[in-house]
Amino acid sequence: MVATAAEKKLLIDGQWVETGDWLEVRSPYSGELVARVAKAGAEETQRAVDAAERAMREPLPAHKRAEILVRVAGQLGRRHEEVARTISAEAGKPLKAAKVEAARAMSTFTMAAVEARKLAGEMVPMEASQAGVGKLAFTLRQPIGIVGAISPFNFPLNLVAHKIAPALAAGCPVVLKPASQTPLSALLLAELETEAGLPPGWLNVLVGSAGEIGDVLVEDERVKLISFTGSSGVGWGLRERAPRKRVNLELGNATPVIVEADADLDDVAGRLAANAFSFAGQSCISVQRIYVQRDAYDDLLARLLPKVEALRLGDPADEDTDVGPLIDAGARDRVLEWIEEARAAGAEILSGGTLDGELIRPTVIAGAGPELKVSCEEVFGPVCTVTPYDTLDEAIELANGTRFGLQAGIFTASLQSALAAAQRLEFGGVTINEAPTFRADQMPYGGVKDSGNTREGPAWAVREMTEERLVVLQL
Ligand code: NAP
Repeated sequence: MVATAAEKKLLIDGQWVETGDWLEVRSPYSGELVARVAKAGAEETQRAVDAAERAMREPLPAHKRAEILVRVAGQLGRRHEEVARTISAEAGKPLKAAKVEAARAMSTFTMAAVEARKLAGEMVPMEASQAGVGKLAFTLRQPIGIVGAISPFNFPLNLVAHKIAPALAAGCPVVLKPASQTPLSALLLAELETEAGLPPGWLNVLVGSAGEIGDVLVEDERVKLISFTGSSGVGWGLRERAPRKRVNLELGNATPVIVEADADLDDVAGRLAANAFSFAGQSCISVQRIYVQRDAYDDLLARLLPKVEALRLGDPADEDTDVGPLIDAGARDRVLEWIEEARAAGAEILSGGTLDGELIRPTVIAGAGPELKVSCEEVFGPVCTVTPYDTLDEAIELANGTRFGLQAGIFTASLQSALAAAQRLEFGGVTINEAPTFRADQMPYGGVKDSGNTREGPAWAVREMTEERLVVLQL
C-alpha cells in the first residue's frame, strides 16, 4: 500500500498551490507511479522568499517555536507507519530502514525543541582587560535570516528534518527544495508543521528544477544561509557561487573501517554486513572500505561472507527485505561499471557482483588497488572492499587515502590503538567498536576535506543558523 495521495501541491506562504506543471514520482523498485507533484520554477521560488521575508517581520517567540516542534514530533509518532511507507515508496528504501528513519525524525524535532528553549548568548568577561573595566557585555543569538535548504534523495525525511527543525528552533524561515525523486516525505512533513500551528511563510516547499530554484536561492540577497546536503560537486559549486552567504555543506564519503586482530570478529562481521548494505549502500556513511589486520583477515571473511549472503533482496515494501533497488537505472549501471573496473584490474569478487533481477547483489571485493573507484570514490551502492594490512600506521594511511572525510571507524580491544586512530583519522567523526554508519541526532555530524564544512545535529545547526550580536553596557 502506498500511503500518498495521487497529487501533491507545493507549500508557499501557507497555501497549497498548483502550478499547472507536474513532476512524476515513480517507485525505484517497480517503476509504478507513486504520485504527481506540482512543479515549481523561479517564479514560485521568488514568491516563497517574499513569503519568508514577511514571516520574519513577525518573529515567533522561542516557546511557541518549541511547542510547534514538539507537536510535530508527536504527529510523527502517531503517523509513524504512514511516514515510513511514504519514505519506502518514493526512495525504494526497505521498510525496516524507513521505520528507523521515521523514528529518528521524531528525535530530531524533539531535540530541536530543546534547542529553541535554551537558545541564548553568553556573558563576556569584560574585566579581563583594563579596557573593559566598568562595562558589562553579553551576546544575543539572533536568527541569521531566511534559510534556503536543499536536500538529497537518500534520507528524504530525516535530512529535511535536520534542516527545517533547527531553522525553526533558531527563528529562521525556510525555503526548502527536496530532491526531485523523493519530495513526498518533505511535503508530508510540511503538512505536519502547518497542522502543528506554524504560521504562513515560515516553511515553503518547492519541488522542481534544481537549477531554477537553486539560482534564486543563490542570487537573492535575502537568503542568508544555504544549507545543502548532497553530492560534492553540486555543494562546492553552490558555495563558490554565493561567497557572501553562509553555505553549509554536508557531502559524501568513502567510509573506511579498520579491524584490528584483537577485535570481537563476530560482532564486527554482524555490524559490517548490516551497515555496508542497508538501503543498498545509499547512505553517505555506508561502510565501503574494510581494512583488516592480516592475522584476522581470513577469520573475518569467514564470518562476514555468510552474513552478507544471508541478506534478503527484494521489494522494499516487504518487512523482511534487507536490500532493495538503487534510486534509478543510471545509478545501478554506474555501480555495475565500477565493479567491472575492479574485476578487470584483477580484483576478486568474493560475493555478489551480479544482478538479481534489477537489483545488485551485495558485493564484497578483495584485492582492489587504492587507485580504483571502489577504493577511493563514493560507491553509493551495495559494494564494499576488504583489504589486509600489517600495521595500524598502514591502515590509517589507507583509510585517509581519499578526498573525503565524513566518518570512519575502528574495531579493537586496545584503548591505545582506538585513541591513536581517533586522533589520526582525518574525518569529522570516528566510531570505536561501532560501524561508522552510526548516527544519532544529538551528535555533531559533518565532514572535513571534500565531505563538507559544517556540523548538523540541532544543537550545532542552531549555532550555524544564528548570529551573535554583542551588547556592551557602560555601568
Ligand atoms: P545531488 O544530486 O547533489 O542532489 C542533492 C540535492 O541538490 C537535490 O535536491 C538536487 O535536486 C539538488 N541540486 C542538484 N543540482 C543543483 C543545482 N545546480 N543547484 C541547486 N540544487 C541542486 O545528491 P543526491 O544524489 O540526491 O544525494 C547523494 C549524495 O548526497 C551523496 O554524495 C551522499 O553522500 C550525499 N549525502 C550526504 C549526507 C551528509 O549528511 N553528509 C547525507 C546524505 C547524502 P534534484 O533532485 O532536483 O536534482
